[in-house]
Amino acid sequence: MPNAKYVFVTGGVTSSLGKGIISASLAKLLQARGLRTTIQKFDPYINVDPGTLNPYEHGECYVTEDGAETDLDLGHYERFLNIKTSQTNNVTSGRIYQSVIEKERRGDFLGKTVQVIPHITNEIKERMLLLGKGNEHDVVITEIGGTVGDIESLPYIEAVRQLRWELGRENCVVIHLTLVPFLSAAKELKTKPTQHSVKTLMESGINADVLVCRTEHELSDDLRKKLALFCNVEQEAVIQSIDVKTIYDVPILMYEEGLDKVVMKRLEIDLDTKPDLAQWQSFLKRHKHPKSSVTIGLIGKYVELQDSYKSILESFVHAGASNEVEVKVVPLHSSDLDEKDVHNKFESFDGVLVAPGFGERGIEGKINAIKYVREQKIPFFGICLGMQMAVIEYARNVLQLPRANSVEMDADTPHPVISLMDEQRNIANKGGTMRLGAWACAIEKNTLLHKIYNSDYTEERHRHRYEFNDAYYDQFNKYGMVASGVNPQTKLVEAIELLSHPWFVGVQYHPEYRSTVAQPHPLFVDFVNACNNYAQSKK
Ligand code: GLN
Repeated sequence: MPNAKYVFVTGGVTSSLGKGIISASLAKLLQARGLRTTIQKFDPYINVDPGTLNPYEHGECYVTEDGAETDLDLGHYERFLNIKTSQTNNVTSGRIYQSVIEKERRGDFLGKTVQVIPHITNEIKERMLLLGKGNEHDVVITEIGGTVGDIESLPYIEAVRQLRWELGRENCVVIHLTLVPFLSAAKELKTKPTQHSVKTLMESGINADVLVCRTEHELSDDLRKKLALFCNVEQEAVIQSIDVKTIYDVPILMYEEGLDKVVMKRLEIDLDTKPDLAQWQSFLKRHKHPKSSVTIGLIGKYVELQDSYKSILESFVHAGASNEVEVKVVPLHSSDLDEKDVHNKFESFDGVLVAPGFGERGIEGKINAIKYVREQKIPFFGICLGMQMAVIEYARNVLQLPRANSVEMDADTPHPVISLMDEQRNIANKGGTMRLGAWACAIEKNTLLHKIYNSDYTEERHRHRYEFNDAYYDQFNKYGMVASGVNPQTKLVEAIELLSHPWFVGVQYHPEYRSTVAQPHPLFVDFVNACNNYAQSKK
């Protein structure tokens, strides 16, 4: 008898249907009923983790407390559930193969031929069950990346098929997320793609227990009946997932559709409690009924792609609700910002956030943006590369070091105000070698940072190679840019602020990875509040 119950979520017809949100919403409902629930994601690609992937390929790379570079869906899991995920919650084919090959090299397979079935599937199964061992969780939801029918997903589907037998039907349920497209010419919703993807799943030996149907229009009773009949599920297990304005509505919709009930029935979980969604509802109310509105410029290199800054955008949603302020984020590409047009473009902004990033492209635009908001006293928030750019701008324009730079952008700069950490100097491998995960930060008294955190200490997540160069610290300090957060052991600068500015904060770490619906991040909350004050003062 397993310790936990397992839910597997597969996807059909097309990618980008929002498996992560459906999984997180179901998890939220089960959690709100008192079940200890966690989620994990299995990705079929060969990269060992998404850390080496370009944001255009894969959106944001989400970093966990333990320093794992993971899929952005883990961000949704943490934001919805207010739990901490770890390396265990995200597994790729690359990691599975790496571990099987290491075992083979050690001789663990005792002369046997190593094959996809059973060796790769065994490794997958072992990892799928890991979070359910040790009595920490009642339910483990596993989201399987990709779409059913993809060659690379096959070992995962096979692993689920085997687990259904091994765990027993009452301990294991499969949800298939699919698309029911609307053909505008025929003015009709079409079930055929769903029938085909359910059939593909059946060819691999799995009969879905629950169908979640993404749709732009309501599914009629007849259509639900038809889907149930052709797809071998009961009618109550045909769940409609209609398009909504905010992802935070999805748990409520899934509750109304009875997704959590059907899943619990299949898993023989006998609970007559109603989910306690009071906190969630109150967040939604504040989110949907703001009292004022602010416009914040998001300056970055990958702004065309919404997913690149997912956690930042969601942190603004949490902070907006907390302030009862609508946050309109206007993305601006940093390479389009020259000194002249910054003024025109920024006129409508009540605050500016300069985003994290890598490489040289667009950095002069970021520096122009920062100079403007510093001089105009517009609230400024710099994250990681954004903080580094604020340091460079100050060095160039206030400390009068015109060629100051980061050695990432100019290895020969005479003033490397941002430089490489010693332990980074001899690293050749790119994957998993940055300063990653949660690090301690001592917060200086009498700083804005201290007021915001209301604490002398915090721990925040990192993902970078370069650092504020200590050698310049006294010069910056003399001119009013101070280190408000410092790592207590290494003395590395974690946060800077400007004494002469109402709200000018740069952080070397990524606060956006820690903001959740239940606990909006204090830095975002205070920044939105500062932008709101600035907006009021302009009126
Ligand atoms: N490129 C910078 C570094 O590696 C900043 C990284 C980031 O913004 N995440 O230090």
